[in-house]
Amino acid sequence: MADALLGPAEIRELAARLGVAPTKKLGQNFLHDPNTIRRIVNAAGLRPDDVALEVGPGLGSLTLGLVGAVAHVHAVEIDPKLAAALPATVTAPHLTVHPADAMRVKAADFDPAPTMLVANLPYNVAVPVVLSLLAELPTLRGGLVMVQKEVADRLTAGPGSKVYGVPSVKLAWYAEAKPAGKVPPAVFWPVPNVDSGLVAFTCRTPPMGDIDRSQVFAVVDAAFAQRRKTLRAALAGWAGGPDRAEKVLVAAGISPQARGESLTVGQFAAIAAAAKLSGV
Ligand code: SAM
Repeated sequence: MADALLGPAEIRELAARLGVAPTKKLGQNFLHDPNTIRRIVNAAGLRPDDVALEVGPGLGSLTLGLVGAVAHVHAVEIDPKLAAALPATVTAPHLTVHPADAMRVKAADFDPAPTMLVANLPYNVAVPVVLSLLAELPTLRGGLVMVQKEVADRLTAGPGSKVYGVPSVKLAWYAEAKPAGKVPPAVFWPVPNVDSGLVAFTCRTPPMGDIDRSQVFAVVDAAFAQRRKTLRAALAGWAGGPDRAEKVLVAAGISPQARGESLTVGQFAAIAAAAKLSGV
């Protein structure tokens, strides 16, 4: 890992020199604690031959840690001023800066292809960014992201948990995720008013490769749109009536009286597969 990680004095000085006033809209809370950077890089399980994708490098705190740990770093930054300034802070030849919105990038934008996603994500768009990148980048083998603690809890929740919901199931479609610790507000500038959480994930083959992801996600969205209802009722709109929903659920081996919050991603995939077979 690079020795020269950014501390509080360096972050303030850099921001002042660049004329950066952090904005809430872009989730700009910059890390100024070298220990947290080391912790993130170590917890990410990076290999020296990995190609890291960092969303939102900001002033370069985490980027400096990443360039010391992997073969290549792609840094995607939406703020043009920060993207333009990054190469002066992180002078590594194996860094590529992409001045772009992470929600719009495609696999063809990256050479070499990213293998690990490591990011202190902008909190307001963290879930859509992660899901969009996992959909676009099949070369990813895993990653570690920092998000708001409540979001970390949701992303890593399993069936039966109160916070298990759409983000948990959709992330589980792509990867196995687990909590990797809590991070206090004091390590950021400006100081956010929430705790942060680390989520480590390992990509895996989707539970049912022959079922289209969008078909499975449509079932998930319908089931959780009315999470207190039984699946028979919650899936009625999606299936074309409660009786048709019941037929599909029975064919998938799932009780029509169950609720979405008790199903695994594999069971959601089984419902989509049964619906496809029965022409729903
Ligand atoms: N990685 C830096 C750090 O740890 O100090 C900054 C993290 S800050 C929480 C989030 C960063 O994401 C900001 O630099 C912000 O400009 C950038 N950002 C926000 N929305 C983005 C998007 N849609 N695509 C790419 N970058 C984005």
